[in-house]
This record gives sequence, C-alpha cells and structure tokens, in this order.
Amino acid sequence: MASSVTNLAVFGSTGSIGRSTLDVVQAADGQFEVVAISAHNNLELALEQARQFRPRWLIATNEEASNAFDWSNLPSETELLAGETHLSRIAQSPGIDTIVAAIVGSAGLRSTYTAVEAGKRVALANKETLVAAGPLVMQTARERSAKILPIDSEHSALFQSLQAGKHDQVSRVLLTASGGPFLRHSTEDLEKATVDEALNHPTWSMGRKITIDSATMMNKALEVVEARWLFGLSAEQIAVVVHPQSIVHSMVEYVDGSVVAQMSPPDMKLPIQYALTYPDRRPSPAAKFNWRESLHLDFEPPDHERFPSLQLGQEVARAGGTAGAVLNAANEAAVAAFLCEELKFTQIVPACRAVVENHHFEPSPSLDRLFELDAWARKEIHRWI
Ligand code: NAD
Ligand code: MG
Repeated sequence: MASSVTNLAVFGSTGSIGRSTLDVVQAADGQFEVVAISAHNNLELALEQARQFRPRWLIATNEEASNAFDWSNLPSETELLAGETHLSRIAQSPGIDTIVAAIVGSAGLRSTYTAVEAGKRVALANKETLVAAGPLVMQTARERSAKILPIDSEHSALFQSLQAGKHDQVSRVLLTASGGPFLRHSTEDLEKATVDEALNHPTWSMGRKITIDSATMMNKALEVVEARWLFGLSAEQIAVVVHPQSIVHSMVEYVDGSVVAQMSPPDMKLPIQYALTYPDRRPSPAAKFNWRESLHLDFEPPDHERFPSLQLGQEVARAGGTAGAVLNAANEAAVAAFLCEELKFTQIVPACRAVVENHHFEPSPSLDRLFELDAWARKEIHRWI
C-alpha cells in the first residue's frame, strides 16, 4: 500500500462532485492533500473550504464575482487567483499529482485538456470534456502518459467490470439509466413538465444541469459518447438499459455471454475514491448495502419515442468529429433556456437535434475549432428559441 500523500487540485470544489470529493479527502485521514480548489459563484462555500482544507491556491473563476467578494477571512497560506485562465496554469503545476475535474459543462474542457497534456492523473467527472473532444483528449493522454480515471458512476462501473476480461473479448457494454423523474410519464405529461418536476430526481442528488439531463435522458446520451472514447468501443457496442434502482451502475457483456456488473448503493463517494486510489481499494465513507433487507433489481429497455435523446446520442457517438462538441454545447444552452422557462421540456432534444444536423461536420477538428463550434451552437439554440 503506497503511503505517500497525493496532492490534489479539485476544480469545481463547490459543486455536488466537488463537495463529495472533499468528504472523501477528509475521511482518508491524510492520504490526500488539497493543494488547489476552484469555484465560480458560490464563493462563500469556497472560503469555508479554504479555511478547512488550507489549499495553496483558491481559483475564483468568475472574476467579477470574486472582485465583489470579501476575502478578508482567507487563510494567509492560501493565494487567491481570480479568473478562469488560472485553471490551466495550476493544472500543469508540478506540485499537483491529480486533478479532480468536477466543473460542469464545456467550461471544464480547457483545464482538463491542459492537465492531460501535462501528463497528470485526471479523475474525470466532467463528461462534457470527452463528449466534446473525446478523440483529441484520449490521443493526448496516450502521447503524454496521462491517466484518465472516470468518476461518472457508469463509467467507473465499466472500468471496474472491464478488468474481468480482455478488450477484444467484450461483445458490448450496458449503461444503466435510472430513467429519471419522468420514467413513467406519458408524452402528454412530458409536454407539461415543469422545472421543479424535472429537478426532482428519484435516486441521485446532483447539480442542476445534470439533473435536467437525467430527466431528458440526454445524460445517458452523453454517457454513450463518453464511453465510446474512454474505452475505445464502437457506438454499436454501447447499449442503454433502464434500471430504476440505480444499484447496478453498468455492465460488460463478454463474448461467452457472461455479464459482469458493478453494484453499490447510489453514492458518488465510491467512484470518486476509486478514481483517486486506483489500483488500490480502501475503506470508504460511501454508503454500504444492508443485506438483512431484501433488494430488488429491475431492468427494462428504454422507450426511444418518449426519450429521443438516446437515438441522438447513438448517432453522435457514431459520427465523432465535431458532432459531440455541437451536441454538448446545444444541450447546455437548451437546458439553461429550459431552467429560465424560455424553452419547453419537450423542446430540448429537438432543438439539439436541429443544431447538430445543421452544423458543418468536420471529422478531425482542432481544440480551437471545437471551442468555435461550441460558441456557434449556443447562438443557434437562441435563434431556435
Ligand atoms: P454542480 O453544478 O453541482 O457544480 C459545478 C461546479 O462547477 C461548481 O463548483 C461551480 O462553481 C463550477 N462551475 C460552474 N460554472 C463554471 C464556469 N463557467 N467556470 C468554472 N467553473 C464553473 O455540478 P455537479 O453535479 O457537481 O457536476 C459536475 C460535473 O460532474 C458535471 O460534468 C457532471 O456531468 C458530472 N457528474 C456529476 C455527477 C453527480 O452526481 N453530481 C455524477 C456524474 C457526473
Ligand atoms: Mg452517470
């Protein structure tokens, strides 16, 4: 068992994944040192975290909010860095071993890519990075010997289950989906879905954007694309199965028909810790099963008519190139529009499809080109509205 301390940067420390990461750090009793944290708007919480974990750097990515905030209680050993450009600089710092990429959306892409370029270990929650720039990120990771360890629970489950066989013996992977709050809603009910209903997830407590993505099942569509690049699978090898209990986090089916699954109570602290300690397993603060109670596991095929995002995800995973960046940005803009009631729930996915289909496809875009298309897709969503 390695006894040396791992130096962490937690980007997006004030979010749902960021807070769970700090819970894992605290429970690990000195195994991890938090060297940097970052926050966008919730600076009150960032200050509190700095006072508890005493990082070397606190990056306040929203410069305007930072300028308006009273930092007089910041510990003297913590340096305040205002503005998002500091993320990339700190991501390359020799004093950091592992970056926890827990910023939401393509706002996390640049710093995650820089960490990969610097050959760091990246504990990746920010799935949007792989959706938008999967081939580029994975290629750079190979060239720079960076390790990308998934935090997304499904991908952590696949990563664990893939250790039971060889890559060329995998016939397919099955991503499980809770189905979100609207699993049993009729098409008419979906038309009337409100923001509050969509934010009421049955099994997971997460940030707002991913919670809406779970309601449209766009989250699963993005995860299909994420799995394609992370594990080097074809789009045809990735299927989605609805599993309302969120206990089996995903499964790998091998050529002999054997299906290997990973299961645990729904608690992100487990995949977060595994991404930090892999290849070791350590005692964790994550919830455990109570085997004296009965446990039921249900699986059913998804309804593609009520959840058209799944088909779109398959198409984008097959297309590669610029399609992922455009889908991701369109979805971010459409979700933001839904949250401020400018778009109906059932318009989110059709709006995304229209933008993906209208974009000028390129098979091997540069990172800068992907950022241009990200901005373009957001504008297109506003035109669509
Ligand atoms: P969240 O909304 O709770 O937190 C987002 C974090 O990103 C916050 O710390 C915020 O300060 C920061 N942020 C927001 N906008 C930013 C910007 N423009 N620039 C820099 N920082 C910004 O989100 P979350 O639920 O913790 O999700 C984070 C990531 O993890 C997402 O990519 C999500 O898809 C993924 N993920 C989350 C869960 C979960 O259980 N929450 C599970 C799997 C994957
Ligand atoms: Mg997930």
